[in-house]
Amino acid sequence: MDLTVISTFRCNSRCQMCYIWKNPTEPKEEVSIETLSKLPGGFDNLNVSGGEPTLRRDLAELIDEVYPKARITEISSNGLNPERLVPIIKKHPNVKVRFSLEGDAATSDAIRGEKNGFQKKLDGIRMLREAGGTDLGFAMVIQDENADQLVKVYELARSEGVELATSTLHNAWQFYKNDNYFYDRLKVAREVEGLITSMLRTNTVKNWFRAYLNLGLIEKILGHDRLIPCTAGSDFAFIDPWSDVWACNVRSDLPMGNLKEQSWEEIIASKKTKDTLGKVAACSQNCWMVTTARTAMRSNIIPQMPKISPMAWVVLNKLKVTFGGDVDFDRYVNYGQVRESPHVPRTSFLGKKVKDDIKVQKDLKTPEEHYPLAEFYNR
Ligand code: SF4
Repeated sequence: MDLTVISTFRCNSRCQMCYIWKNPTEPKEEVSIETLSKLPGGFDNLNVSGGEPTLRRDLAELIDEVYPKARITEISSNGLNPERLVPIIKKHPNVKVRFSLEGDAATSDAIRGEKNGFQKKLDGIRMLREAGGTDLGFAMVIQDENADQLVKVYELARSEGVELATSTLHNAWQFYKNDNYFYDRLKVAREVEGLITSMLRTNTVKNWFRAYLNLGLIEKILGHDRLIPCTAGSDFAFIDPWSDVWACNVRSDLPMGNLKEQSWEEIIASKKTKDTLGKVAACSQNCWMVTTARTAMRSNIIPQMPKISPMAWVVLNKLKVTFGGDVDFDRYVNYGQVRESPHVPRTSFLGKKVKDDIKVQKDLKTPEEHYPLAEFYNR
């Protein structure tokens, strides 16, 4: 199982597609190391995210606690405080680190509301590489404003010798935003094709399967159904800053329990989890985030191997690209079917005064109080 620990909702970015920064948590209410010590071992990918995890003063101790419990420990960061990760990387060089990067300097800084963010991330990745980091990379949220820069960001990552993870605009309780919609789905979807071809051209098996993950992103962007059913709650779960455990980070009606009050085993065996798994099986949302897609791609028989359909797609198209051909995207994707969505403008917060927008979440007890928007729908 993969697990994401959303360690805090405090954040020093001001993103236009995620409003965590407007809803910061109180440090003393955030999931504690003592609570996380109740997690068993044996997780596959354990991601410590936020908000911005480097704003937790105890991040190094938190990583020490979870590191032995997972095959891969990951930190998802905005990359604005890379120096806080150096001691962690020196101690655990194989901790996976991904810095959010949304395009060239002007685009990335505008989308994320970060002054000089681009340069800090680039310098930060180099700093972590010098500290001995072996699994570093960038993560990009594909949206109308940066889709045309996708291949360039991929090439930048490759030139730095690091990875690029991709996701797309979506709505989720984690983002405190339920009105993220593409302005032009078709245009954004077509831009992803270049990235897929570039990934298939490399000599890395991991990249070829990432190409398939990005094919799923095209389907998501167009508003089509998922390529593979979702396995939230059984193959992956999320812990929020109040120690509440959720099947996914999208629907705020998929609770599993609370790690502060219960043991992990009680949560997994609870009626609440059983009811939630029933809702997941009937879920009609078309999420295709790395966590949800990666786990769904794995074989049910040999989890280290992919399912047959992704494998067949990868082998066929890798061969095609290798021998000078092109991927026939129109064969795999129905571009004639593009779901309509409302036009809700997104605006950059770069250089804007935001103090009045920020409301600390304090002394709120229930998930309903924590996530008052309630409706988070992706189609
Ligand atoms: S498809 Fe449904 S259950 Fe799966 S991650 Fe999306 S909202 Fe959650």
